[in-house]
Amino acid sequence: MPTAVSRPGEPEPVVAIDIGGTKCMAALGSESGQIFVRKRFEVRKREAAWIEKEIRAAVEYLRSAEPARFAAVRACGIGFGGPVEGRRLFSHHVAGWENIDLAGGIERTYGWNTKIDNDANVAALGELIFGAGRGLTDIVYFTVSTGIGGGVISGGRILRGSRGLAGELGHMNLVLGGPPCTCGNSGCLESLASGWAIAARARSAAVEDGQKAAKLLEIAGGNAENISAKMVFQAAGAGCPVSRDIIDQAIRHLARAVGNAINLFDPQAVIIGGGISLAGGALFEPLRRCVKSYVMRTRGGEVPVLPAELGDMSVLLGAIALARPRQSSASAGCL
Ligand SMILES: [Zn+2]
Repeated sequence: MPTAVSRPGEPEPVVAIDIGGTKCMAALGSESGQIFVRKRFEVRKREAAWIEKEIRAAVEYLRSAEPARFAAVRACGIGFGGPVEGRRLFSHHVAGWENIDLAGGIERTYGWNTKIDNDANVAALGELIFGAGRGLTDIVYFTVSTGIGGGVISGGRILRGSRGLAGELGHMNLVLGGPPCTCGNSGCLESLASGWAIAARARSAAVEDGQKAAKLLEIAGGNAENISAKMVFQAAGAGCPVSRDIIDQAIRHLARAVGNAINLFDPQAVIIGGGISLAGGALFEPLRRCVKSYVMRTRGGEVPVLPAELGDMSVLLGAIALARPRQSSASAGCL
């Protein structure tokens, strides 16, 4: 048996797991955010039982790579790419999660205190503890990628609501009778400003008026079907008027949502992560300008709108923050 290496006063080792729609990661880290070893795998089968088996294999890999630290683990945090109601998992993409108590299974196998939450909530916690929100207690986090997710941290805790389903910032309804959304409603932020919404709008604009969208089509190799949100940002930067309009509109919608979130949650900062946040100044400068017009005029001071700092490690580091065994129950996040 390997000897446990954790000593009193030293950061405790924890296991963190990030379960996404296309890839998963498991890591052995410390509660202070250091990662000693991690194992990543692609989701090749969209079945919960297969993914659970792979997660367990990844955890066993951590054991074999760092046996002494692994033996000292007492806690595990999991970020799951779908709604988490209590410990029941749902997924729009993967069949069978409803019947699997993943956190309970890990807890029974390894004896770890295991916490699980929706990945956007977990990423928000990660940014609060280790990223752009360090030192703060109240943040709103938007992740703007193919879809739009979010998490609200209030008083150092994830705001979970009565069933754990709070913080779905992407499904904030903004436009009456707006475009259909993946959630079954229409006019949500996600249907107006997400990667898929931007790409869909650009594709139809390019088909409608190929001449006006010539630059965008050129970037897409002449085929409107190839257009991605990244290409639309690129074309907007190169002066394509169609792309500029689409990006401007998406940013205005996002600004409204950010303004609404500031009015609702009174955060110290709003943090924007996800693939689209990598657009940098092209996103943040107009966004910050625009947000002001949606925040209550009576509110003094400006709430900073900051880029996320943890990139694609936000969920994994958030899972470490969620697991942290020495946190008091008052700031432990959830469960
Ligand atoms: Zn929606």
